[in-house]
Amino acid sequence: MLVEDDIINQEMIRESVGGTYDLIVAETGEEALLIISEQYETLSIVLLDLNLPGIKGVEVLKKIRSDPAYSRLPVIVMTSDSEAEVECFTLGAVDFIPKPYPASKIILARILRTVEFFENRDILSFTERDHLTGLYNKEFFYRYAEQFDLHHKDTPMDAIVFDINHFHTINDRFGKKHGDEILKNIAKKMLAVVNESRGIACRSDADRFMLYCPHCEDYGAILNAISVPLGEGETHVRLRMGVYSDVDKTLDIERRFDRAKIAADGVKDNLTNPIGIYDNSMRETEMLADRLINDFPTAIREKQFVVFYQPKFNVHGDKPVLSSAEALVRWKHPKLGMVSPGVFIPLFEKNGLIQELDRYVWCEAAAQIHDWKERLNVSLPVSVNVSRIDLYDPDLIDRFLDIVRNNGLSVEELLLEITESAYTEKSELIVEKVKKLRELGFKIEMDDFGSGYSSLSMLSYMPIDVLKLDMQFIRSAFGERMDTRLIDAMIRLADSFGIPTIAEGVETAEQVLVLKRIGCYIIQGYYFSRPLPADEFEKFLKVK
Ligand code: C2E
Ligand code: CA
Ligand code: CA
Repeated sequence: MLVEDDIINQEMIRESVGGTYDLIVAETGEEALLIISEQYETLSIVLLDLNLPGIKGVEVLKKIRSDPAYSRLPVIVMTSDSEAEVECFTLGAVDFIPKPYPASKIILARILRTVEFFENRDILSFTERDHLTGLYNKEFFYRYAEQFDLHHKDTPMDAIVFDINHFHTINDRFGKKHGDEILKNIAKKMLAVVNESRGIACRSDADRFMLYCPHCEDYGAILNAISVPLGEGETHVRLRMGVYSDVDKTLDIERRFDRAKIAADGVKDNLTNPIGIYDNSMRETEMLADRLINDFPTAIREKQFVVFYQPKFNVHGDKPVLSSAEALVRWKHPKLGMVSPGVFIPLFEKNGLIQELDRYVWCEAAAQIHDWKERLNVSLPVSVNVSRIDLYDPDLIDRFLDIVRNNGLSVEELLLEITESAYTEKSELIVEKVKKLRELGFKIEMDDFGSGYSSLSMLSYMPIDVLKLDMQFIRSAFGERMDTRLIDAMIRLADSFGIPTIAEGVETAEQVLVLKRIGCYIIQGYYFSRPLPADEFEKFLKVK
C-alpha cells in the first residue's frame, strides 16, 4: 500500500512496483489506517509518505507500530526530509526511501528485500504460502478472495479450478522431482495469468490449482496460458479446468470453488473437452448432495441405511460353492426411495461422514453374521468396505476388535475390503496399519485392483490376502474384442505371490468359464446374484 497524496509520486511508484505487486493507494493517513484494519492480511508492505494532509505520516507510523496485531507489516518511509530519518527508524520504520525517488529498479529492490526479510522472519508467512510453488495456500487464498470482494463489489468474478489428469502416473513415470518441476512451472504460468487479469491464484491440493479472477469469456485462452510440457520432447501435461462463471457473491467462497470443482469433475477423463462450466444440471446434483448430507443424521438414527449382501462363489470344483458375501449399503430414503451407494458414498467420502456410515455397516454386517450362526448354524464370512479415510482413524483396529468381540465372531469372519487407491497415498502409514490388522488375523481383500495407479510390483510388498480385480477391468477384457491377456497376466502374477484373485462384476457363464480357465476361482456378480436383503440372501445359506 502506498500512502501518498501526490499524483505524480503515485504514478512513479506504480511504475516501479506495478509488475510485481498489486498497489493499493491511500491518499490520507486516515484512509491508510482504515485499509490496514480491513486488509491487513493481504498487505505485504506499507510505503508511507510523511507529508500528508490530515494526520501526519509520523502519526500513522506510530499507530501502526503501537498495535501488536500489525507487527508483521513492514513500513518504509518516504520523504525529502532527511532529518526525519532517525525519528522514523526509532519509531519502527524498516527502511527509508529519499525523495526525489531513486531509479525505479532501486525502489523495487528495496521493497522486495524488505518484504522477503519480513516474510522469512515471520512464521506466519509459512502458513500463507505453499512451499513448493510459492503460490498462496488454500486457506489464505479464500481469505484473500473475500478481501478482494470487499473492494471490488461490482466486479463480476469467476472461480476456476485446475486439476492435472493422472498426476500419479506422471510421478510414477518421471519421478517425484520431475512432478514437482511441473507443478512449479504451472504455478509460474498462473502467476503470469493473474498479473494480467488482476486475479489471485493458489495451489489448493497436490495437483489442484485455483484461480479467482474478474469474469472473462475465453477460458480456452487461460487453459492454454498455463499449459506446460510434460517432459523434454513430450506432449503437454493434460489439465482439466472447471469454471463457475460470474459467481453468486452471496455464496461462501468455499462454495463457489466447490462448484468449480464439480464442473471440473464433470470433464474428468473427457479427452475432447477439458473445460467444464458449472450449469443448472450441476446445481441439481449439488442440491441433492446438500439434501443427502442434511438427511444423514436422521437416516442413521432411524436406520434408513440397509445392508444388502452379494454372494461370492468358489468355482474351483464342479459345483460352485458359496464362499463369502460382500456387505453393500443402500439408503431407503423416506422421500427419495432407494438411493444407490454410487450417489452417496463418494459424497460422504468427501466430507468425512463415510466414517460414521462405515462403522454402522460394519456393526450391521457383524450382527448379521452372528445371527446366521445362531439361527441357521452357518458361519459365512462377510466382507465389509473400508474407506480410505477409515484407515487414518487411530482407533480403527480397536473398533474392529470390539465389533468382532461384541458379536462373538472370530477375526476371520469379518473380511476387510480396502480399495486399491487407499494404498497409493501415505502408503507407509497405511501399509503399517494393514499389517497390524493382518497380524491380528483379519483377512484383507484389495478392492478395485487395476482401477487406479498402483503398479503390479506393489503386490510384492502389499500386505494383502486376496486381490479383487476391478470390474471395469473385466468389462474391457470381455468387451467387443475379447482380450483377456492383461487379466491373465495379473492373475498369474498374483498367483506367483500366493495371492488368490476374485473377479467381480461377472455377468455371464462364458465369463465364468474363461476366468476359471485362467485361474481365477472366486466369482462375484449378477451371474450368481445381485446384492440382496439379508432375508432373501438366506436362500444361499439354506442349501449350503
Ligand atoms: P464395490 O465395492 O466395487 O462394489 C461392487 C459394486 O458392483 C456394487 O455396487 C455391486 O452391486 C455391483 N455389482 C456386483 N455385481 C455386478 C455385476 O455383475 N454387474 C454390475 N454391473 N455391477 C455389479 P453398489 O452396491 O452400487 O456399490 C457401489 C460402490 O459403493 C461399491 O463398489 C463400494 O465402493 C461402495 N460401497 C457400497 N457399500 C459401501 C459401504 O458400506 N461402505 C463403503 N465405504 N463403500 C460402500
Ligand atoms: Ca467392495
Ligand atoms: Ca470393487
